[in-house]
Amino acid sequence: MQQGAAISKPPTKQMGGLETALPCSPNMREKIRAALIGAAGRMGRAIIDIAETESVDIVARIDLGDEIALAGADVLIDFSQPAASGSICDAAIKSKMPLVIGTTGHSTKQRDEITAAAKKIAVVLALNFSVGVNALFALTERAAKILGDDFDLEIVEVHHRMKKDAPSGTAKTLAGILQRARQAKNLRHGREGISGEREKSEIGIHSVRGGDVVGDHTVIFAGQGERVELTHRASSRETFARGALRAARWIVGKSPGLYDMRDVLGL
Ligand code: NAD
Repeated sequence: MQQGAAISKPPTKQMGGLETALPCSPNMREKIRAALIGAAGRMGRAIIDIAETESVDIVARIDLGDEIALAGADVLIDFSQPAASGSICDAAIKSKMPLVIGTTGHSTKQRDEITAAAKKIAVVLALNFSVGVNALFALTERAAKILGDDFDLEIVEVHHRMKKDAPSGTAKTLAGILQRARQAKNLRHGREGISGEREKSEIGIHSVRGGDVVGDHTVIFAGQGERVELTHRASSRETFARGALRAARWIVGKSPGLYDMRDVLGL
């Protein structure tokens, strides 16, 4: 583990066993101190690059093989891989430290572990930290309601060749929004061969992988004689990094619970 530069800790008060940063005015933002897991990865590096501009000190850079040592941090940020989630939750609970999870692709068991952890500490779990994607979520829900059952629903996501999980966490969130908004409940992951006519109850999900694409998501509403497509394209990881740091600032001092980006953005 590499330690970042030590700085003086912001004034704190005790709340429910957690140390809580005192409120401050926006133009006099207190720095918060974060430990970062997955620090050597693409997202980890993007976070380190802009942390200073968001008044966050990365005081511990943790990656594969390092001990999860959290002394001196106010919050733990995770952008690693799902297999690490059990030990990350344990370490955060042990240190009574709020946790921001950006990692995607968790199994049901790993999700259950995160839900259990959120009974003891505050956890932000966001499968996409970009403000634009969170707007896409809201627009998708609205369009599904306006367009109604006559429009077929398909989701297409495109990511770089190194991405390990499919479909993306964001595509899964979009599918969940469509499932709740409409009668279409059955997820159909790709089509091959004599796949038969499209069922009305289907939501198609298609994952494209290649090159260095940071992340594109399109929701297609296909009707008779017309089609509506809502697309978000991320051109830089900075948008996710900024959102994660915003979540890290927001969660310090929050009560235990499972939060998402809508809570952070106040949507
Ligand atoms: P990456 O492979 O570039 O980086 C992952 C890093 O985690 C690597 O440095 C790896 O060595 C480290 N790591 C793996 N296992 C570890 C462990 N047990 N302990 C500590 N470190 C460990 O991946 P990435 O592109 O940076 O993405 C990381 C995760 O974040 C992925 O799950 C990805 O899908 C997700 N992601 C989420 C968002 C979002 O907005 N929520 C945005 C982009 C990526």
